[in-house]
Amino acid sequence: MTRIANDAADFVPQALAGFVAAHGDLVRAVDGGVVRAAPAARGTVALVVGGGSGHYPAFAGVVGAGMAAGAVCGNIFTSPSAGQAYRVAKAAHRGGGVLFSFGNYAGDVLHFGEAQERLRDEGIDARTVLCTDDIASAPIDELHKRRGIAGDFTVFKIAGAAAERGDSLDEVERLARLANHRTRTLGVAFGGCTFPGADEPLFAVPEGMMSIGLGIHGEPGIRDVPRASSAALADTLVDALLADVPEHRGDRVAVIVNGLGTIKYEELFVLFGDVAARLEGAGVTVVQPEVGELVTSLDMAGASVTLFWLDDELEPLWAAPAYSPAYRKGAVVVAAPEESETEEAVLPEAAEAAESSEWSRHAAAVALAYLDVARATVHEHETDLGGIDAIAGDGDHGVGMRTGVDAARGAADPARGLSAMLAAAGDAWSEKAGGTSGALWGAMLRAIGGALDREEADVRSTAVDAAHAALEAVTSRGGASVGDKTMVDALEPFARVLAERLADGDAIGQALEAAAQASTEAATATSSLRPALGRARPLAEKSLGHPDAGATSLALIATAIARESRAHTSRKEDR
Ligand code: ADP
Ligand code: MG
Repeated sequence: MTRIANDAADFVPQALAGFVAAHGDLVRAVDGGVVRAAPAARGTVALVVGGGSGHYPAFAGVVGAGMAAGAVCGNIFTSPSAGQAYRVAKAAHRGGGVLFSFGNYAGDVLHFGEAQERLRDEGIDARTVLCTDDIASAPIDELHKRRGIAGDFTVFKIAGAAAERGDSLDEVERLARLANHRTRTLGVAFGGCTFPGADEPLFAVPEGMMSIGLGIHGEPGIRDVPRASSAALADTLVDALLADVPEHRGDRVAVIVNGLGTIKYEELFVLFGDVAARLEGAGVTVVQPEVGELVTSLDMAGASVTLFWLDDELEPLWAAPAYSPAYRKGAVVVAAPEESETEEAVLPEAAEAAESSEWSRHAAAVALAYLDVARATVHEHETDLGGIDAIAGDGDHGVGMRTGVDAARGAADPARGLSAMLAAAGDAWSEKAGGTSGALWGAMLRAIGGALDREEADVRSTAVDAAHAALEAVTSRGGASVGDKTMVDALEPFARVLAERLADGDAIGQALEAAAQASTEAATATSSLRPALGRARPLAEKSLGHPDAGATSLALIATAIARESRAHTSRKEDR
């Protein structure tokens, strides 16, 4: 649990501010995260890492010479927004292009991807290398589906060293990809972590057991086994890692024994001794190991072992010096902090206040009432939604939805007309909430606004178009299909039944109710599905028997909106 805090809601910004105050010689705060106080040489590649907070020293602690140029810092366990990633990258850019690198999670992929597009639109070359080291999260023939855990560190180290020596963006990207390909991690959890302000951990490991295959966002392990000695644990982890190696692995390996938050360093050293012995017994040479906390998960009791298979290109980069707040190696001449001379981020332009028609402003006022209804529903169910997400995800869905819908409501101004209002609301949702659902709900609102704002069309056809536009916005970004156990499972039947009912001649209120009913049934039925995408996928077995969080929230909102539509119609009829 968190013992030292003020208001839990301010925990992340206060921790970041204190971090910057403590390391002002090395880092400076920018909107969205931190960058190096003394930037690297002009023309070099800027490695920008990031993700949710709660993983210190990932990600802000590894900003420095020979490491990252900047770190994007989201809320606890929640991906930062596209706007944050874009602004940190702009501040870190030195003219040689930007390499984004972060763990492979849907929310981060969506938001960093959008930031990459924005940089490219401005003529800045930007690329992405995902970290996929966790062998427990997908089989070896599906490396691209694996999530990133402590092995993020090796990718950052290699890319940071290559950028520091002046390699081109092509080369830094290639080496980062190679490092990721040759990095494998497996961990074990003895107990879950607790959000600041919460009383209960996100999961518990049964007495006398340990959970193999930990996640770093409070996701429980993949399988529980009886606790064992350090030597037996080392054998379990090392043997699994030796059975899951890259081709041409060689026999030189950098080892990381990483603590997740509350395992003592002495315990980590005991484990390292056993890991090294097992590796040496297998004829493998351990090169420049790291033992300590490199990627944590709040106060989780757990440890992981990473094997990074070196080759002639990677070994000198692994050995290269580095100097950052949390990680230092060899000798580095640290330049004095520079006055900020980096490019300023171009703030997203406020949409042209194009003249909106009276019809559009009236429609916006009606839409605003629906947004209020959605907001009330999300507030009412916030805790339940978090609970559902904690079963196989990271427990943040309730907080994320609440943050997003509040931001959307705050940004919604009906005087701007329907599509401009919903576009601004969607952008605010995505920007403030981050996470997978933040990116997808933001895109949905924008798409709905575009489809509804057609005054010559009748409400029946625009309603169908809006539902389809929302579905298209989610599937084109997230790539999910029906049956993958995501919000798409609740959205597709909603759009389908709405179109069918309206074609059959139902009134709009009736059709919406039938569509919401279908959405609710489909959301409930996701209980019997195994997740194929998103954070819950590696925990498919734990997820069985429980509905999907994003499908549940979507069906709740659809139901509330259908109810409001009925009330709206009857209010009109009464008049
Ligand atoms: P995060 O997964 O980043 O923590 P949330 O907890 O807010 O984000 O949202 C989780 C929900 O997002 C899931 O329950 C699922 O409905 C939805 N989701 C995850 N991945 C996808 C995807 N690729 N396409 C559509 N929806 C997705
Ligand atoms: Mg979540």
